[in-house]
Amino acid sequence: LKHIGVLTSGGDAPGMNAAIRSVVRTCTHHGIEVTGFYEGYQGVIDDNAETLDARAVAHIINRGGTMLRSARCAEFRTREGRQKAYDNLKKRGIEGLVVIGGDGSFTGASLLSDEFDIPVIGIPGTIDNDIYGTDFTIGFDTALNTVVDAVDRIRDTATSHNRLFFIEVMGRDSGFIALNAGIAVGATNILIPEESTELDEVITKLKTGRENGKTSSIVLVAEGEKMGDALFMAEETKKHLPDYDIRVSVLGHMQRGGNPTCADRVLATRLGVAAVEQLMAGHSSVMCGVRNGSVCTVSIHDAISRKPGIDRNLMHIAEIVSL
Ligand code: ADP
Repeated sequence: LKHIGVLTSGGDAPGMNAAIRSVVRTCTHHGIEVTGFYEGYQGVIDDNAETLDARAVAHIINRGGTMLRSARCAEFRTREGRQKAYDNLKKRGIEGLVVIGGDGSFTGASLLSDEFDIPVIGIPGTIDNDIYGTDFTIGFDTALNTVVDAVDRIRDTATSHNRLFFIEVMGRDSGFIALNAGIAVGATNILIPEESTELDEVITKLKTGRENGKTSSIVLVAEGEKMGDALFMAEETKKHLPDYDIRVSVLGHMQRGGNPTCADRVLATRLGVAAVEQLMAGHSSVMCGVRNGSVCTVSIHDAISRKPGIDRNLMHIAEIVSL
């Protein structure tokens, strides 16, 4: 293996830079040339790229976002687009591609590899943790810490004013962020798409809490919650609890930014090394991940076609401690 490409695609996540750095430095270590493509697949189609040496990735391990920038590229969804991308990869003599992104990006990578016989390796980078085959995705831990920090601040004002806060967090169709952060902030209710909750249950719990002396409450709502968003939940609750001082806070894109945590930097570095080693071993169409503390691989096909399950035990724990 003499030359590989690397790109970040789809939604950005803190720790993607650490992954790029790791891929580049692992290549340097093994004498492999690396080309970094800008703005995901768009950069491959437009041949917007440059050679990355060890120094090109200096001072990025601590930075959020991605130095290669990310993009959504409609053209790559077409066979013609992927043909253009493949032609550019060939022209540069690239023998394998590392794609850092989410399941959409892996779907594109998988198609490219199947159609044109170019090896691809995926590294899961998304704050949502919604990828099958890994216990953690790069960016999840940072997002959790950002959410916990933000909700702690909201809690300070919630307790001072006897308020009930509905706080909406990211996660697309899954509730990993809401569930884990909800436990960490001591939320009264955690509403996630994996679990169907009725409004009645939420209201009963809030009332019971108040009867038991609770003076303020935090309800964490995952953006994918099927009952509705945080604003809707708050309005519905107000109809049943008119004397409550109810507020809504949608945390939004602040959850995607910030310096990656130690855990995300270490994870990204491990997966970057693993991805290059997979290409060196002649493997393709796998995603590198981490399971039970060890680096592992899973077929890209499984990573994109299966959904990771929420930890039922965690939900049980959340229920026990949210009296
Ligand atoms: P994520 O990787 O975070 O899930 P997207 O779903 O937006 O983000 O996917 C990122 C990019 O991957 C898309 O803009 C597109 O270029 C490519 N992609 C996604 N789905 C497909 C698909 N079905 N076929 C080909 N390319 C795809």
